[in-house]
Amino acid sequence: MKTAVFWFRRDLRIKDNAGLYHALKSNGSVLPVFIFDTDILKRFSDPLDKRVLFIYQRLLQLKAELQEIGSDLFVYYGQPVKILESLIKEFKVASVYCNHDYEPSAIQRDTEIRQVLDKKGIEFESFKDHVIFEKYEILTDAKKPYTVYTPYKNKWLKTLSPFYLKSYPSEKWTVSFLKKVKAPEWPSLESMGYKSSNFSFPLTTIKKSILKNYANDRDFPALNGTTLLGMHLRFGTVSIRQLATVAKDVSAVWLSELIWRDFFIQILFHFPHVVTSSFRPIYDQIDWSTSESDLQKWVDGRTGYPIVDAGMRELNSTGHMHNRVRMIVASFLTKHLLIHWSKGEKYFSEKLLDYDLAANNGNWQWAAGSGCDAAPYFRIFNPYTQTERFDPDLKYVKKWVPEFGTEKYTAPMVDHEFARKRALTEFQKVLRAEKK
Ligand code: FAD
Repeated sequence: MKTAVFWFRRDLRIKDNAGLYHALKSNGSVLPVFIFDTDILKRFSDPLDKRVLFIYQRLLQLKAELQEIGSDLFVYYGQPVKILESLIKEFKVASVYCNHDYEPSAIQRDTEIRQVLDKKGIEFESFKDHVIFEKYEILTDAKKPYTVYTPYKNKWLKTLSPFYLKSYPSEKWTVSFLKKVKAPEWPSLESMGYKSSNFSFPLTTIKKSILKNYANDRDFPALNGTTLLGMHLRFGTVSIRQLATVAKDVSAVWLSELIWRDFFIQILFHFPHVVTSSFRPIYDQIDWSTSESDLQKWVDGRTGYPIVDAGMRELNSTGHMHNRVRMIVASFLTKHLLIHWSKGEKYFSEKLLDYDLAANNGNWQWAAGSGCDAAPYFRIFNPYTQTERFDPDLKYVKKWVPEFGTEKYTAPMVDHEFARKRALTEFQKVLRAEKK
C-alpha cells in the first residue's frame, strides 16, 4: 500500500473536503499533516494572536476526530518543503494532496514544492475546494477576468449548476486514513512564540433565522444580523459548497456576499500586483498623507467621528467589525484623512479574526476607489448620514463610545466638508495628470 500525505492548509475539516476526498480515494493510506509554516507565522508577530490560537484549537479537534478512528494528526513547525521531504523519507510517501491556495506567495511556495517533489517522482495533487468558481471558470465573453463585481456576479449565477455545489464526501472514506500510528509530540503554542487564552470564537452553526432576515438586518451594526462565519470560511472549518447551497435556498442577498468572496479571490489570482500597489497604480501617485498621529487617532478610535470610533474600538477589543462600519472607517481613513489604503489594510490584517488577504485587500481598494470595480473614487461616505441611516438610535455608537455626548468626547479631528473637497481635489489631480 502506498502512502499519501494530505496537507491541511485553509481547509481544516474532514467533511466535504475536495482534496482530502481525492487523497482518501487514491488507493493508498493517508497521512494527515498540518504545518505551522514559519514563513507565514513571521507575519503574525503578536504573541496573543487569536488566529494562531484558533488554528491550534481546531487542530486539537481534528486530532481527536482522527484518533477516534485509529489514526492521528501530524503537526509540525517549519518550512513546508523541508518537512514534506522528511515525511517522504520516513513514510515512503508516493503523493502529496492538498487544496488550491490563490495567494501569490502560496502559489509560489506550491510551485517550488511541486518542482522538488517532481524530481523525486512524487506526485503533488491540488484541488479546488476554497471557492465555488476559481481561476478561469468565470471570464468575460472576451475570455478576460472580470474586474467589476455586478457582471461577474451575473455570470457566476448563470454558470452555477448543481455540479458546482456537489459535496465531496471525504467523511465517508475515513477508512483510508493511516491507522495504528502515533504522531510525534506537536510544537506547543509557546514554543512557536504564542500564548493561549480562553477566548471564545464564533461558532460554525449556520443560523437560518439570521439568513432569513439578512437582507433587512445586515446593514445595522447594532443588530446581530450577520453570520460571523468569516473566520470559518477563511480557515475552511466550513465548506463553501455547503454554505452556498443553503444560501441559494434561503437568501439571495447572502449568496451575493459569498460571490463577493469569490470575486476578490479571483482578482487576487489574476492581478497579484494588488498586494503591493493599487489596482490602478496611478492612485499610488496621490499626495497621500504620512501623518502618524492621524493614523494613530484612527487606530485608537479617537477621531471625533462617533461611528468611526465605535468601529475601531469594536475591532480593537473583539477582532471583529461590522461590514457597514468597515466600509465607513475605510472610507474615512482613505478620503477624510487621505492616508493610503495599505496602512489601513495592514492594521486590519493584524486585528481581524476573519482576516483574509483577498477580501481585505479587495475591500480596502474598493473603499479607496483605487481602480477595481465600477465604484469610482468620488464615493466618499458621510459618517453622519451613515450613522443616521444605519445606527439611528445610536445603540452601536453608545455601546463602543460610552463618553459620546459628554464633554469627554473628542472634537472631530477634521471637518467633513473640508476633507471631502480635499480628497476630490487630490484624486482628480492625478487622474488629470494621467490623461495629459
Ligand atoms: P456575512 O455578512 O454573514 O457574510 C458571509 C460571508 O460572505 C463572510 O463571512 C465573507 O466570507 C463573505 N463576504 C461578505 N462580504 C464580503 C465582502 N465585501 N468581500 C468579500 N467577502 C465577503 N472579509 C473577510 O472575510 N476578510 C477580511 O479580511 C475582510 N476585510 C474587509 C475590509 C474592509 C475595509 C471591508 C469594507 C470589508 C472587509 N471584509 C472582509 C468583508 C466583510 O466585511 C466581512 O466578510 C464580513 O463583515 C464578515 O462578517 P460575517 O462573517 O458576519 O459576514
